[in-house]
Amino acid sequence: MRVAKHPFENRDIEAAVFGKTFGNQTADENDDFVQPRARCRTCNSELSFVAAKTRRIAHFRHRNDVFCPTKYPAGQPYVNLIPHAPDDVAGAALRQEFRRRWKWHYDAIQRHLVPFLSTKEFLALLGIANEHRSWDYVGLTQEMIPYCLVLMADFPPGTGYVPKGREGRKLWFRFWYEHRMTDLRDLWIVDGDPVLHRASFQPPATKRGRPAYEDLIADRALHPLPANFLEADAPAVPTFVVEQVDRWFTNHPEFE
Ligand SMILES: [Zn+2]
Repeated sequence: MRVAKHPFENRDIEAAVFGKTFGNQTADENDDFVQPRARCRTCNSELSFVAAKTRRIAHFRHRNDVFCPTKYPAGQPYVNLIPHAPDDVAGAALRQEFRRRWKWHYDAIQRHLVPFLSTKEFLALLGIANEHRSWDYVGLTQEMIPYCLVLMADFPPGTGYVPKGREGRKLWFRFWYEHRMTDLRDLWIVDGDPVLHRASFQPPATKRGRPAYEDLIADRALHPLPANFLEADAPAVPTFVVEQVDRWFTNHPEFE
């Protein structure tokens, strides 16, 4: 990552500035210089500074044995879990209600969480949630669904919606929760609202590449969705989106 918490002050510091400010140990073996440690803004663990080289930008690195969500792609490790004690009756009811309410979810996600969400991405999230039986978690509510869905995938520029004549998404988005959350259920079980972060990465140079966490440009704590967002008037959703989503539901009878 390129930004971390300053070692001594209550502010962030960029890796390039850190290098200039604190310097490195010299080649003298009697040098007892100890470089101070910046801390991760997500997990608060100490980070090593990695200086810039040709074709490598200055960045901070976690120790290998530290768990931090920024080190993992796509909402892992939450996403790869499946419910230990699935409640398939509640899951079926949740899917049925979701089908009735999909416009509210779609609108909340694209308006508040994932800028330039495309229909294809929205439907992919539903498919991944199906694969992982994410609907069957005991205690999962309709209101929590957008928060779970955005953890299911990364959002590269290439899969996003491109408005006519305008540029779409420029950065690669990834979502995570603070590190104390170890299970999807912590979203609704743990006291206090877990804070959702949206991280923006510099997209990889190649089409099939993945961003490395050294390419993390910014992470932002997002505001919670508006209370009772499911009770607002039906949001306006473009006809071509409605058609695609309806077609998808026709092929997915598990939402009936
Ligand atoms: Zn961290």
